[in-house]
Amino acid sequence: AAEEGFDIEEVEGAIEEAGHGPLPVLAVVGRPNVGKSTLVNRIIGRREAVVEDKPGVTRDRVTYEAEWAGRRFKVVDTGGWEQDVLGIDASVAAQAEYAIEAADAVVFVVDAKVGATDTDEAVVRLLRKAGKPVVLCANKVDGPSGEADASYLWSLGLGEPHPVSALHGRGTGDMLDKVLEALPEAPAQTFGTAVGGPRRIALIGRPNVGKSSLLNKVAGEERVVVNELAGTTRDPVDELIELGGVTWKFVDTAGIRKRVHLQQGADYYASLRTAAAVEKAEVAVILIDASESISVQDQRIVTMAVEAGRAIVVAYNKWDTLDEERRYYLEREIETELGQVAWAPRVNVSAQTGRHMEKLVPAIETALAGWETRVPTGRLNAFLGELVAAHPHPVRGGKQPRILFGTQAGTKPPRFVLFASGFIEAGYRRFIERRLREEFGFEGTPIHISVRVRE
Ligand code: GDP
Ligand code: GDP
Repeated sequence: AAEEGFDIEEVEGAIEEAGHGPLPVLAVVGRPNVGKSTLVNRIIGRREAVVEDKPGVTRDRVTYEAEWAGRRFKVVDTGGWEQDVLGIDASVAAQAEYAIEAADAVVFVVDAKVGATDTDEAVVRLLRKAGKPVVLCANKVDGPSGEADASYLWSLGLGEPHPVSALHGRGTGDMLDKVLEALPEAPAQTFGTAVGGPRRIALIGRPNVGKSSLLNKVAGEERVVVNELAGTTRDPVDELIELGGVTWKFVDTAGIRKRVHLQQGADYYASLRTAAAVEKAEVAVILIDASESISVQDQRIVTMAVEAGRAIVVAYNKWDTLDEERRYYLEREIETELGQVAWAPRVNVSAQTGRHMEKLVPAIETALAGWETRVPTGRLNAFLGELVAAHPHPVRGGKQPRILFGTQAGTKPPRFVLFASGFIEAGYRRFIERRLREEFGFEGTPIHISVRVRE
């Protein structure tokens, strides 16, 4: 590496950074109006529009990437929703449950000016049951005079309350230091894979695409509920299901069954649930209703799974209802609307008739194999050398940037770092990704490519 003009520490640093596995997940929970969204904005260091959100408005993004003291993690925002038909306690419990289930640590936000309410106590019980590390945030402590209010929150039994003003930033740094102590380096779910155990599948898709029908079809009588948090309104449930002679864990299947008809905020719950399931899973099976036009909501769900870096299978359901004309238009729509997952294995199924159910497992296995693929450095560089020789980067300003060498820094999904002699244009990056896929497969997996430029 050194002879190419990069110093070895720089190369090692870049590989380490690019190779980070899945990030640990922090959930921010609490009653409406305690300041969750304000706090999330503060943590991610951005002014997103979340505080303005009104109930019932579709929230397509509930997970954000954040960095504090050089460590990266994800934040699940449960703000931006309000009381629904279930009543305040049940809706707080439901949102907290989804978020806690997906999280490695939790920030529990309480309004210090108001003090602990019965609803707060109910969340404390959920937190105890879940057993995840909790950092207690006593919010709206805008000045020293509010500190006394914060200390009353010791009564919740969650340890030290951290006085914070999410609005002004007071105390948030100290609280984030505590958060980093509570967060594991890597998500617990990932450690689960390392020691074996069933692979985790999230079956996702917008309402009415046929998720529960498909689950019932594949599960038959085989389903075994493995994780039930009893006594709460809607329990996240993982189920072990045997398919093709292998046991799989379908995560958060309770989210799939419609137990309660939600009105206000239903889309928001759906997003939160999908995000939680995707976080917990290794592979996402995205169900699309082939009988209807592919919608923005379908695309959002696809984006969520891609951005989470999961292995992906796309299943087009209700195939039994398609006539020739619809099939024609479907293919056009797939090309124009779902180009971002053109690399994902595809199955055309009917949860009703059982059509092509047997193709689901091979597709999932293909996607997982792509997700775990590791290309040896020698092979990668032989490939890059030939590629660059045959298709050099366009000359810009009299200079020709070159890819000098590269390495795969990580898997699940595959992450590459390329070292270059100059700025590499987006079009050329896409070309490299396309050729990498042609050469090495990577079917069913997003791949990350970062480029380091020699100074
Ligand atoms: P959420 O429903 O829990 O997400 O709460 P929001 O973040 O939407 O905040 C609710 C209200 O409390 C908004 O009017 C915020 O401006 C206000 N708020 C949030 N944090 C603070 C704070 O630290 N101090 C004060 N004084 N107000 C705050
Ligand atoms: P979910 O909301 O995604 O769980 O969707 P459901 O499983 O509840 O299905 C929504 C509707 O679509 C129900 O009326 C199902 O009977 C119907 N449905 C599901 N799969 C199929 C299919 O493959 N073919 C047909 N014709 N209908 C289906």
